[in-house]
Amino acid sequence: MEFDKEKFKNILMTRLRQQYGKDIAIATRHDIYDAVASACMNTVVDKWIATRRTYEKEPGMRRVCYFSAEFLMGRSLGNNLINLEIKEAVEDILKGFHLNLNVIEDTEPEPGLGNGGLGRLAACFLDSLATLDYPARGYGIRYEYGMFEQRIENGFQVEYPDRWLTHRDPWEIKRSDLAVTVHFGGKIVYRKTPDGQERFNLEDTEAVTATPFDIPVVGYGTDTVGMLRLWEASSPDGFNLQLFNDMQYTRAVEKQISAENISRVLYPNDSGPSGKALRLKQQYFFSSASLQDLVHGFVSEYGTDFSRFSDCNVIQLNDTHPVVAIPELMRILVDEYRVSWDMAWSIVVKTFAYTNHTILAEALEKWPIDIFQGLLPRIYQIVEEINRRFLIELREKYPGDYQKHNAMSIIADGMVHMARLAIHSCFSVNGVAELHTELLKTRELKDWAELYPKKFNNKTNGITQRRWLLSANPLLADFITKRIGPGWIKDLTKLKELEKYLDDEASLRELLEIKQENKRRLTEYLKVTQNEFLDPDSIFDVQVKRLHEYKRQLLNILHIMYLYNKLIADPSYNPYPRTFIFGAKSASGYRRAKAIIKLINTVAEHVNNDRRVRGKLRVVFIENYRVSVAEKIFPAADVSEQISTAGKEASGTSNMKFMVNGAITLGTLDGANIEIVQEAGVENEFIFGLKTDEILKIQTENSYHPQEYFSKNPELAKVVEQLVDGTYDPSRQLFKELYDSLVFGVEGQRPDVYYILADFNAYCEAHEKIEAEYNDRIHWAKMMLKNIANSGKFSSDRTIEEYVRDIWKLKKVPVTVKQKTDE
Ligand SMILES: *Cc1c(COP(=O)(O)O)cnc(C)c1O
Repeated sequence: MEFDKEKFKNILMTRLRQQYGKDIAIATRHDIYDAVASACMNTVVDKWIATRRTYEKEPGMRRVCYFSAEFLMGRSLGNNLINLEIKEAVEDILKGFHLNLNVIEDTEPEPGLGNGGLGRLAACFLDSLATLDYPARGYGIRYEYGMFEQRIENGFQVEYPDRWLTHRDPWEIKRSDLAVTVHFGGKIVYRKTPDGQERFNLEDTEAVTATPFDIPVVGYGTDTVGMLRLWEASSPDGFNLQLFNDMQYTRAVEKQISAENISRVLYPNDSGPSGKALRLKQQYFFSSASLQDLVHGFVSEYGTDFSRFSDCNVIQLNDTHPVVAIPELMRILVDEYRVSWDMAWSIVVKTFAYTNHTILAEALEKWPIDIFQGLLPRIYQIVEEINRRFLIELREKYPGDYQKHNAMSIIADGMVHMARLAIHSCFSVNGVAELHTELLKTRELKDWAELYPKKFNNKTNGITQRRWLLSANPLLADFITKRIGPGWIKDLTKLKELEKYLDDEASLRELLEIKQENKRRLTEYLKVTQNEFLDPDSIFDVQVKRLHEYKRQLLNILHIMYLYNKLIADPSYNPYPRTFIFGAKSASGYRRAKAIIKLINTVAEHVNNDRRVRGKLRVVFIENYRVSVAEKIFPAADVSEQISTAGKEASGTSNMKFMVNGAITLGTLDGANIEIVQEAGVENEFIFGLKTDEILKIQTENSYHPQEYFSKNPELAKVVEQLVDGTYDPSRQLFKELYDSLVFGVEGQRPDVYYILADFNAYCEAHEKIEAEYNDRIHWAKMMLKNIANSGKFSSDRTIEEYVRDIWKLKKVPVTVKQKTDE
């Protein structure tokens, strides 16, 4: 369909008049953003309606429903303009009004409805699904407050609420007509029908209304527009006028507030347990609402013959957060539609598939029985029945092996184990990188892989090149398109063709110049936003990701302290100037992670104010790391720090974003780093450190004694002592706990559980190698191009095609918008 500039302009003006009572001369930036987004939405809705119509006409269509507690979508305007292929046209229109599209884009509030990798993966998947014309829906929660805003005050992380909904969101459409009710608590009422069938009903429940908000997901270069459906909680009988008239104002809105709290806030917990009952409430809330939505849709099309349900729907569970959907589907089928248990179970086991995201044992979700049963009495009863039947199977298969029965029982030790429920009930269980899946099968979930070998499979994560290259790095995107055409935008493996430029010096120099320009842009951005002054001629060495001990930001900052000591000790030492860039949020209750943030900022302040190292070393902590900032960082990075303890990072996806943007990986053989090395060649990355099996060996032999590294390496000993000797902190208390955890071990833990001291030397050597190789600019540019050219595997398009082939079994359903004759 031809883009109609005049019409776009008209919608924009009308919107400004009707929503804000203004013309373009007096409109604020936000008004203009909202009006541009609304005009853009008009085009989107044409495609959206066409998509819905096409799907309605498609007999027996199968779709995937991606259930996720997090969708870290980032901003929409820029991405939607690109995917609609109207960005330049809209840029021109705005230029006509002396407006800069980039500035308008930057006023969009950012929906940060996710913590990190898991939520961002969900967002990349939706982009790929729409682009590849697969029928799909994302289902989640419309949190009123997303990821907190992080400010650094005095070097400490301070959290502020993220009020992303202060203004209306022009991308969402409220669908009150599709609201459903979700029930919590209550009593189970049992009866037998005259013909002897059992019936269970819940009475005296807390009823909560779930109202969906639909957000379009615009595919690139296609008319398909997918959908993200997010549920908002409210009370059906919220406001009590009686109480209000009795002047009991707080009690009058109590129910309302209690219900609304369910979708109030995203838990800022990246992984690891959270004992919050409200969190379980959130999980059941969106799982139940989404299933009711799917079942209503199915019944209105096919009636109550549920034998076809799993032909039409496959549900992918993004980690264990939505696993309570499994017993909920049993409840809906058995209690509400009177399907027999066996029939219902046969449907459930064909419908659900589960993605595991972590090997950290402490992060496997489990709920105390009393909380679970109190909140969801009927669901608990169903889980008990699923488990009772499962245990019969287990006892038959492993007679007398009580240890195993207990280790696999869904209910055990006073807890409901969500991962066990998922693995038993789902037809597919996948890890997110080759190493991760292998470790699940041979270690963490070994018993399960032996019981259900066919369920386990790997789906290495990916990222969408539309956001992370085409949109985030326009200079590099043009460089690529000029040489190999635009095919890579929909097929990233085409980047391989860039290898023919590996010996073309002009191209290599251009590549370096693009990196340089992106570094200048990041420098400018940090000057304006944080009053930080970087040197774009230095090496930009970047570690951005959630702050977690296993990700080892501590290793990075300890090396910086070491380098600083070396520069001070020897003023004639003149290495290539380096800028170390960090960005990371810590979970609000994660004390050690917060201490590491404070340490990074303390060292940064100290180093950056020391004239002796000026021009040689600089440390920067970027505040409030999030998708929009990430889009500015990846294009400007020279070195990508991926330094987790081997065996701990399930996949990582920022490693992939760095790679497509031409940064070289400094990493351990962990997660998808291993596959990055396989694709680009080990000579084009900087790999260091203990490997998974070496760590396992040390662990099983109990032979790790970190103190040995101090006697072998006095520089390391000095750096660790500096945590507590007053060099950085006169009180000597701030980093004491960090120090103790490294040297002695605290709270019954062994010292240095993440093997920072063991890997320190290898890490320093890798940095020296980087410094040497960076000097040879053409050599470095070749490594960059090698990485870019071989990043094709890491497109989420490839990941999605694998899910489709092995798990979802979807068919593409292309959509075409007819030329409209309306208005
Ligand atoms: C990609 C991304 C992540 C994931 O980073 P990892 O290094 O893979 O943990 C986290 N946060 C944001 C904003 C991202 O874009």
